[in-house]
Amino acid sequence: MESTKSPYVSKLANDLKPSGIRRFFDLAAGMEGVISLGVGEPDFVTPWHVREAAISSLEQGYTSYTPNAGLLELREEIANYMRDRFNVEYSPATDIIVTVGASSAIDLAMRTILDPGDEVIIVEPCFVSYVPTVELAGGVAIQVQALKENEFKILPSQLEKVITKKTKAIMLCSPNNPTGTMLSKSELEGIADLAKKNDLLIIADEIYAELSYDEEYTSMAAIEGMHERTILVNGFSKGFAMTGWRLGFVCAPPEISSAMLKIHQYALMCASTMSQYAAIEALKNGRPDVDEMVKSYRRRRNYIVQSFNEIGLECHVPGGAFYAFPSITSTGLTSQQFAEQLLMKEGVAVVPGDVFGESGEGHIRCSYASSLEQLSEAVKRIKRFIDHLNEER
Ligand code: PMP
Repeated sequence: MESTKSPYVSKLANDLKPSGIRRFFDLAAGMEGVISLGVGEPDFVTPWHVREAAISSLEQGYTSYTPNAGLLELREEIANYMRDRFNVEYSPATDIIVTVGASSAIDLAMRTILDPGDEVIIVEPCFVSYVPTVELAGGVAIQVQALKENEFKILPSQLEKVITKKTKAIMLCSPNNPTGTMLSKSELEGIADLAKKNDLLIIADEIYAELSYDEEYTSMAAIEGMHERTILVNGFSKGFAMTGWRLGFVCAPPEISSAMLKIHQYALMCASTMSQYAAIEALKNGRPDVDEMVKSYRRRRNYIVQSFNEIGLECHVPGGAFYAFPSITSTGLTSQQFAEQLLMKEGVAVVPGDVFGESGEGHIRCSYASSLEQLSEAVKRIKRFIDHLNEER
């Protein structure tokens, strides 16, 4: 969709740029035989017992609103999940709000904590919604670039340089979209120390927490002294393969949660009721499904990373999520040129790295949430594309 300016539209909305990911979907949509490594969602269908729980809720006539914060039973399950899985204690009564995906949790967090001119440090490359949600909430996004030479891990020293009197929060995402990079416990501790020293909040987008392949996952809220200054965002889209159900949650200390709930109750009222029943089932009985999916993603990650390195696209081993983020600088093309030409010549859709921030330039994001057959065909086509480029030079 083209963005056109209108006198009826606010300056903020007029100035908002459409997501750079969308453009490639639109280009690919009209083409045949395209292999898409572009979309950021699981290739699994939500497990049947989870779908059945939603169907059963409809059969029983549970079709009305839930409490604003979500069904108490679901919040209790989320509290159990956060305690058992991530070693973080939250009270279902006061700390947890069920949201419309992690997306609305991020928006809610920004709108709750920001006064005009307040700054949020955004670590890039990052998910495309962070900067716009800060700006729509009246804040100022201060972008800091995680670098390729550090495997896209942000260093506390880089963050420290951009902290000002106006800094309210640091936005962090681990495992990361688009780089797949996961921060270790000690790396999180380094950032936590900085937040404590400067009295900052951390908005921790932990939507990919289930999809970690090499190390045990540490939640930012589990780090000493961070529970009270973390707004933790998570949800069901990725780990539980439930993107279309639009269900996430946000956990924070009660004084922040109660303020978030005021905005949520006016903006959205509550999340979808049947989705909440499905999520209860996912948390109660979905562990074996998640474990199976993680096993499958790990296999595919290993395959794609090795393949990219073999065909000359240098690629670090991403610790989590389902994205590989290989460098394409050896081809001499920009990420936009690479993605566009690859799509036109070989019918493979990837996302150019620059849409995720300045330091994403020189890279492409490839989602490996596709079958091994599709991945293998995509690698074959990408190799052919690179070989032709080399012949032309
Ligand atoms: N955060 C990140 C890092 C994501 O990649 C995504 C989805 N691509 C979201 C949040 C939003 O997820 P949801 O479907 O739960 O709104």
